[in-house]
Amino acid sequence: MEDFALVLNAGSSSLKFCVYRRPEEQTWGLEARGQIEGIGTSPHFTVKDGTGVKVADQALAASVRDGDGAIDVLAGWLRQQYGGARVRGVGHRVVHGGPNFAGPVAVTPQVLDELRRLVPLAPLHQPHNLAAIDAVTARLPEVPQVACFDTSFHRGQPEVATVVPLPRDLCRDGVQRYGFHGLSYEYVASVLPTVAPEIAAGRVIVAHLGSGASLCALRGGRSVDSTLSFTALDGLCMGTRPGALDPGVVLYLFQTLGLSPKEVESVLYKKSGLLGISGISNDMRDLLGNTAASAQLAVDYFVYQAAKQIGAMAGALGGVDGLVFTAGIGENSAEIRARICAACAWLGVDLDAGANESRQTRITRPESRVSAWVVPTNEELMIARHTGRLLGLAANA
Ligand code: AMP
Repeated sequence: MEDFALVLNAGSSSLKFCVYRRPEEQTWGLEARGQIEGIGTSPHFTVKDGTGVKVADQALAASVRDGDGAIDVLAGWLRQQYGGARVRGVGHRVVHGGPNFAGPVAVTPQVLDELRRLVPLAPLHQPHNLAAIDAVTARLPEVPQVACFDTSFHRGQPEVATVVPLPRDLCRDGVQRYGFHGLSYEYVASVLPTVAPEIAAGRVIVAHLGSGASLCALRGGRSVDSTLSFTALDGLCMGTRPGALDPGVVLYLFQTLGLSPKEVESVLYKKSGLLGISGISNDMRDLLGNTAASAQLAVDYFVYQAAKQIGAMAGALGGVDGLVFTAGIGENSAEIRARICAACAWLGVDLDAGANESRQTRITRPESRVSAWVVPTNEELMIARHTGRLLGLAANA
């Protein structure tokens, strides 16, 4: 019987998945990659095969209202495609691993209890990540599952980069800077020796610019600082999250405007950032194509904060050898890359406009003191590698 392994990345309105397959006596390979988007609004199912050819593209009934419904759709499609195939393991992206999980972990009821306690630290992501684990447990109780955390990659950072400067007794129960997007950074760090060997062992700033956005300072491939911290609200301006914010603003929302904790949470996680400034959209594509002054201000602020905080990360590293762009905006928007690189000219970034426009891997001129690169991320592959290793599946994906 053929073996299968699944990777699930469950968000608030989307379920991304990868299917890995091992034909009898052979090696693991990517069989399919897909997503269900628009869960709760206008759900849509797309799948590409391992070579990138679209094999499914269909609108789903509006009755797919939540993650559980999305898992049912995926399970139905898997049954139809692969019949009675055996699922050997499921790897999940889980955003917050808290103080106790410094690496991927096999899911047990005790682990789940601990992860549920972290929901307040990642209310936008963690409940959906855990709901996917519950949904798989309900359908495939015998199949081992692995939780892979966005925080783990940062756990070796020096104490000075992780401390939260509040009274110690308030910080006792894990109030510290964790950092996120770790699966993305870990993947990028793992491929740098191949795609950008001249900087891989040096001081590198990786800019993960997607709907969530952050920077990671790498020294020799290890995380030494990051702009996201205790929660996924800090640092850069994001699609709906503000990034770095004077905590006095939060006090003002409570004390003067009289907002409730739930309202403040909603402002900070769902209504701020690009959406808040523009009042138009959280999607960078919409804003770049919009001439409204508020749309332009949102883009300007995004670029300004990215460049400013790249300066801070360079300070943390004591200099910089390379700058790497990844994720939705970083990989696809030549304009945003060009604007950030222009703002980092003082650091020694000398952009090659043609290479940037045509999305070469290296986008700076040969003589540029600091080189800049575009490296597509692959968080799902990182989860597959961890899951394979932990479950002894010899995943060579
Ligand atoms: P991610 O969270 O990594 O999927 O990235 C989502 C973000 O990438 C959204 O803000 C999209 O607008 C943005 N994005 C995707 N493609 C482009 C593009 N060609 N130009 C600008 N932004 C893009």
